[in-house]
Amino acid sequence: MKATYRAMQVARPGVLEWVERNTPRPGVGEVLIEVEACGICGADIGDIERAGPVLRPPRVPGHEVVGRIVALGAHVPALWKSGQRVGVGRFGGHCNECAQCRQGNFQLCRNQPVVGATCDGGYAEMMLARHTGLVSIPDELDSEEAAPILCAGIATFNALRKCGAEAGDVVAILGIGGLGHMAVQYARRMGFHVVAVGRGSDIAQDALELGAHIYIDSAREDAAARLLSLGGARAVVTMVGNVDVVSAMMGGLAPQGRLVLLNPAREPLPVSAAALVGGERSIVGSITGTPHEIEKTLNFSVLADVRPKIEVVPLERANEAYQKMRSGDARFRMVLTMARQSQPIP
Ligand SMILES: [Zn+2]
Ligand SMILES: [Zn+2]
Repeated sequence: MKATYRAMQVARPGVLEWVERNTPRPGVGEVLIEVEACGICGADIGDIERAGPVLRPPRVPGHEVVGRIVALGAHVPALWKSGQRVGVGRFGGHCNECAQCRQGNFQLCRNQPVVGATCDGGYAEMMLARHTGLVSIPDELDSEEAAPILCAGIATFNALRKCGAEAGDVVAILGIGGLGHMAVQYARRMGFHVVAVGRGSDIAQDALELGAHIYIDSAREDAAARLLSLGGARAVVTMVGNVDVVSAMMGGLAPQGRLVLLNPAREPLPVSAAALVGGERSIVGSITGTPHEIEKTLNFSVLADVRPKIEVVPLERANEAYQKMRSGDARFRMVLTMARQSQPIP
């Protein structure tokens, strides 16, 4: 193993710098991963632009990490082996001791690192990870296409599983970007009547090709009214941060319909209590999932032939790739690779 590795760390808010660091040894319960690919997620914006300026060494972002185990610390179960290809998502490994862990709600463990925010992530050639946060990567997926499934994939797959809809029900996906383009594919494969809702017409063809039955351009059409004309949505799964756009979709929910929120916007969400009470509608939040659920998502992606649409960029060009994601120009997910050179960003 090399004595040093290279990483992109947060130099100052919004800017990544290329650095060389000493290769660490895994501690108790940890593995050292040689990273092969790392997706760039919308949540990375917060990690890169609001990283603590006094943190030494500065934080390495990235929480859609795929690589191979190259060293194991003490007390790592035999399930995990040197050379095995594994992934790490947003949550860096639950504690197995807190009240939520004891109920099996590992995604709600409060004693686990948030990868790329409270511990170093995958914009690097090497990364340490707790064994409880690891997932096994199926051979059918290459590392670059598996990476976005570890956050964008699990977040949308789980939201759809929890949305209460059954086969044939109308399910609307609000926001057709990095997460939404996965949601549309999963929703179609789960047997829903899939309505993609976005702004503008340029995304329409992509949405239909990904599996949407209908595309609604919310800039030209009242999306809620259109959903009502279809009988109302059993669920609206939204990735959008604009709370006014989100609350406007409440009007398109069928009785007992569910609005499922994936974007952790801080602004209050204006809703009509009458719409909730009168139609027994509900609003729920959904946060990625457990390592076991991530493995389910990966396996379902293989089974149902769901893949993220990605643009692969070498690690040292993370700044450009990050800016492209941030500006909304990515179609649909940027992935950093540690292995090979890729095409220049147009
Ligand atoms: Zn993410
Ligand atoms: Zn816990």
